[in-house]
Amino acid sequence: MEADVTSPRTLEHIVPDLEAIVTPAQVLQRGHDDFEKYGADETEDLVFLPDVVVRPETTAQVSKILTLCYREKVPVTPRGGGTGLSGGALPVHGGVVLSLERMNRILEIDKANYFARLEPGVITQTFQEIVEAEGLFYPPDPASRGTCTIGGNLAEGAGGPRALKYGVTKDYVYGIEAVMPQGEIVRFGGKRLKDVAGYNLLGLLIGSEGTLAVITEATMKLIPLPRYRKTLLVPFPEMAAAARTVPAIMGRGIVPCAMEFMERACIKSIEAHLDKKIQHSDAAAQLLIEVDGNDETQLEREMEIIAEECEKEGALDVFLAETTAKQNEIWDMRRSAGEAVKSVSAYKEEDTVVPRANLPALIEGIHEIADRWSLSIISYGHAGDGNIHCNILKRDLEDSYWNEVLPKAIEEMFQLTVRLGGTISGEHGIGYSQKRYLPIAMGQSEIGVLKRIKESLDPLGLLNPGKIFPDS
Ligand SMILES: Cc1cc2nc3c(=O)[nH]c(=O)nc-3n(C[C@H](O)[C@H](O)[C@H](O)COP(=O)(O)OP(=O)(O)OC[C@H]3O[C@@H](n4cnc5c(N)ncnc54)[C@H](O)[C@@H]3O)c2cc1C
Repeated sequence: MEADVTSPRTLEHIVPDLEAIVTPAQVLQRGHDDFEKYGADETEDLVFLPDVVVRPETTAQVSKILTLCYREKVPVTPRGGGTGLSGGALPVHGGVVLSLERMNRILEIDKANYFARLEPGVITQTFQEIVEAEGLFYPPDPASRGTCTIGGNLAEGAGGPRALKYGVTKDYVYGIEAVMPQGEIVRFGGKRLKDVAGYNLLGLLIGSEGTLAVITEATMKLIPLPRYRKTLLVPFPEMAAAARTVPAIMGRGIVPCAMEFMERACIKSIEAHLDKKIQHSDAAAQLLIEVDGNDETQLEREMEIIAEECEKEGALDVFLAETTAKQNEIWDMRRSAGEAVKSVSAYKEEDTVVPRANLPALIEGIHEIADRWSLSIISYGHAGDGNIHCNILKRDLEDSYWNEVLPKAIEEMFQLTVRLGGTISGEHGIGYSQKRYLPIAMGQSEIGVLKRIKESLDPLGLLNPGKIFPDS
């Protein structure tokens, strides 16, 4: 099922055809100033250079490119903003990188039906700001929202801090236009809240990591923008106490729009990265808690209950952001966690997720495993969703020790995650870097079903090859 490795001659042969489909300026080859960036994403230090990069502007162009590449047996790797954390956009078999960055128009904001139609290359934050100016709200907010694209969000099934109250990307996708691996253009769903005609193929394409189709348009649900939000930052003397507070708050009947966890080492790395003092940065962990809604008095009552639960667990302070500027400052700090941790040392990030109530056991267990293998770990993430990003740091370990021990420690962490009712990726996908661990989360039969779907839609295995399925 894996793609053939193409010879350079084959690609030289198709470059004029690609240039005729788009324009010569939108076909990049080695030597172009921008070429190398298409060989990497945000996944550790992995680099795989493509042979050619193509940047189409229309669905018809995408269709012609896929038809040509299928005929010539050239692998194609779709790419959005290149912020992926599992190597999904890396052209691991070379061939063509199909960048959707120039398909970046918002086609319609339908205020009567609360829907928007947009192209895949729209930056998520741009989309959010545009609909918010209209009094509407698109909640899914990956921390990378300033640089990731809607197409990448659909392909990864992206989440974000607000998933706790509002759900993830898949909960907002009602229609997709896509180009299938052999060039056929298809449309599923649309601006309708109910639609059970045929199989639920939106569900299949969302989270398919660019391996089943190239998404060229999305119809996304919008909701009214809540009028008020209140943001708290709460330091705790122990990690376990912060973790226990999350289900305790939910147990009081409150659903915050975000409950984000950062352990001390994470806060310290943010302080160093931003060169800025953070209050109580010596506390073992901090929770960023946000509530939103239209009734300010109700939100104030909820905050009192939240403060009560935090204090029961020994919170060192309950800091309320009094102004929008202060709220933004707290969120900027949280959103910089990924970059901050990355600047500490070489690392490997794992995207563990468990049922929320099992979070204390997950955090404790992961630290125990790291200690046993003498590995250093920094964890942070979406505690309200039971989704914690564990960053295992190389620091000054010898390469040989790191290369030998790391996969063993990760396997143990994932086995623990699965025992706790969780799985090996909550939002970053399997892509290239996690595929060897898929059998920990799925049995032979389940992986077999996935493979049969892939083979039936892409018999030559040319669309984003080398992803999701473990090497056999
Ligand atoms: C600092 C940081 C913070 C992050 N925070 C979060 C977070 O909070 N939540 C979260 O879920 N993720 C997060 N991520 C991961 C990443 O931003 C998401 O996975 C995002 O959805 C990737 O979007 P992208 O446009 O960058 O896609 P890319 O990285 O370009 O591609 C990702 C995958 O999507 C496929 N793809 C892209 N566009 C299309 C298309 N149009 N059609 C078909 N396939 C396509 C690619 O082939 C690839 O497999 C974070 C990343 C960083 C660096």
